[in-house]
Amino acid sequence: MRDEILDIKNCGKIAVMGGTFDPIHYGHLVTAETVRVKINAEKVIFIPTGRPPHKDNKMVGYDEHRYLMTVLATSNNPYFSVSRMEIDRPGLTYTIDTIKNLKKICSDKTEIYFITGADAINEILTWKDPEELFKICNFVAVTRPGYDKDKLLATLKGFEKKYKINLIFIEVPALSISSTDIRNRVVEDKPIKYLLPDEVEQYIKKYNLYKTSFKKRPLFNFINQNLHGVLKPTRFEHTQNVAVEAANLAKFWGADVEKAYTAGLLHDCAKDFPPEKTLELCQKYDIELDDVMKHQLDLVHSFLGAVIAQNDYLINDIEILNAIKYHTTGKPEMSLLEKIIYIADVIEPARKPYKGLEEIRKLSYENLDKAMYIALNSTIDYNREKLRMIHSLSLSALNYYENCMRKNNRKTSDYTKTIK
Ligand code: ATP
Ligand code: MG
Repeated sequence: MRDEILDIKNCGKIAVMGGTFDPIHYGHLVTAETVRVKINAEKVIFIPTGRPPHKDNKMVGYDEHRYLMTVLATSNNPYFSVSRMEIDRPGLTYTIDTIKNLKKICSDKTEIYFITGADAINEILTWKDPEELFKICNFVAVTRPGYDKDKLLATLKGFEKKYKINLIFIEVPALSISSTDIRNRVVEDKPIKYLLPDEVEQYIKKYNLYKTSFKKRPLFNFINQNLHGVLKPTRFEHTQNVAVEAANLAKFWGADVEKAYTAGLLHDCAKDFPPEKTLELCQKYDIELDDVMKHQLDLVHSFLGAVIAQNDYLINDIEILNAIKYHTTGKPEMSLLEKIIYIADVIEPARKPYKGLEEIRKLSYENLDKAMYIALNSTIDYNREKLRMIHSLSLSALNYYENCMRKNNRKTSDYTKTIK
């Protein structure tokens, strides 16, 4: 570890900017600098996130690229440093361990401020020991274009009340940039200039990064290898189809294609567990089974799947996890990604034909809420015919999307397709 160069021993206040930085861009840099100035921190430490212990050589190389791009991007700011502590740490990397490690390096008096974007703030509760984390470091939540500021403030209020803490809220200049978009642009040969520092752009060119489609990235190899071991062959095929269908829908509706593909691949990751294993894992992960689930254990696989995706496949993105969680029952007010996974599961090309399927397929690319309504309706009818109990989430979802349809008669859809 080369973290001796961090030079934070005598700092009174340091800020930590954690991220995948795949690649680092101006959104990250302007956020870090704005927070530094606002809270008067002596240093901002950028910490590229670690990867799971199963990393193969390709993944190690890939970590090194993320680290080096972060160094390049931050080198002209004397207040910025980069730490290798997460990428060098063997085993799973948890933020709590990183903060504890930083505390060892700096003095007892150093205050640590952890920066999180509006999208990442909801993920904190899914991290290891959030309560202790809130105790040992301060959190700075920053705005991010595309994420509702009022919702962010409400979330912060909720955390403050629950954990009896104070969180810092800072508005940063709105740069609508994401690493996902940059990677997609490289694949599609679109320019990335002015989205990230020149040095990083040159580095990406030099090493030909992100040129291959994201589907060929090591993370997806890892997911597929594991799924092979736990899913029946037909289910494995189904997950591949759902992932592709979800990616197509995401592209059409302007959602994050990579997240849709990931959630599609993992949506059934807990479906082929034997009943005893399902029950055992529910107990291990504190998943409470309601009456309907107790009678129909197959309903549990989506709730358990979200937890397995997080623990075994190291997915921390709350949007992906929720899309997995609600892909069977649905729920009112689903996010765009949640609807996409629900629908992709219903319409993937290898689905056995049934009455109404073609209509749902057509509606999926015209009006997602209407597609949700018809899909929920036929699933509920089918289950009633089989004398199965219907989960209350599905019933309230049906009710919700029926109302949406009524409103949609006035306004065509919640989501108007935008040209990108
Ligand atoms: P990806 O698209 O791969 O998820 P990203 O652009 O979201 O990448 P991350 O490395 O995931 O970047 O983000 C690290 C941290 O920076 C997170 O807390 C995130 O919320 C924040 N962040 C990223 N981009 C912006 C931005 N444009 N404005 C404000 N905060 C941002
Ligand atoms: Mg992100």
